[in-house]
Amino acid sequence: MSDHGQAPQSSARRPLVVLEKVNKHFGALHVLKDVDLTVSEGEVVVVIGPSGSGKSTLCRTINRLETIDGGRITIDGKDLPAEGKGLARLRADVGMVFQSFNLFAHKTVKENVTLGPLKVRGTSGSEAGKRADALLERVGVASQAAKYPAQLSGGQQQRVAIARALAMDPKVMLFDEPTSALDPEMINEVLDVMTGLAKEGMTMVVVTHEMGFARRAADRVVFMAEGRILEDTTPEEFFTAPRHERAKDFLSKIL
Ligand code: ADP
Ligand code: MG
Repeated sequence: MSDHGQAPQSSARRPLVVLEKVNKHFGALHVLKDVDLTVSEGEVVVVIGPSGSGKSTLCRTINRLETIDGGRITIDGKDLPAEGKGLARLRADVGMVFQSFNLFAHKTVKENVTLGPLKVRGTSGSEAGKRADALLERVGVASQAAKYPAQLSGGQQQRVAIARALAMDPKVMLFDEPTSALDPEMINEVLDVMTGLAKEGMTMVVVTHEMGFARRAADRVVFMAEGRILEDTTPEEFFTAPRHERAKDFLSKIL
């Protein structure tokens, strides 16, 4: 459950995702600049900021879809290996949901959810199937289990993507603008699933422009601009008294 009003970066809880002085370049472009971020068990951190500020790159470095050129990232105390089985296992601890669903088009909804546990976790077929049924029920798409992704609405596909990530039993879930590609009437069905996860204590990093969700579900709001974290504070603080001009300017444009 979220502890609204608590001091940021409470030391009482186990740090699950820790970034220390993380730097990332794409050629000459310095995309992440000395990024320090700690996400503790059960925390919901919403990351916001202008387009191009490095939010997606931040998410992608956390599960090694991108390498880093400096600094350190640990997941539950372990360094991320660059490759191999260790990477697959650690990546399985970090569930990721993208803007563009990214479901396997030639697999059914249920197969999309069972595939990871079968291949990476070594779960038995019957166990993976049972778990998939339960997860599809939980995100409200159980009746679509035998269909293919293209037969589903965008909101349904994104809920399947969430179920697929949860099937790996991740320690932390990353969401990169999960509702940005959805028609407006489907946004809430996805945000409702995410709010449910937050309430159940899932550790979450959520890049979103949905400020209602940030106010409702976030323990902390992290504001990024030009590759730097400029603010890392409670939603109350951020929305009522942002400290940086960049943050004030950003809020004035989206609120
Ligand atoms: P955001 O998600 O905040 O919009 P991104 O992390 O996607 O920002 O991008 C940050 C910067 O890095 C942008 O200038 C973007 O153009 C650049 N960038 C992102 N991915 C790549 C890549 N694979 N190659 C080169 N430049 C990239
Ligand atoms: Mg992005």
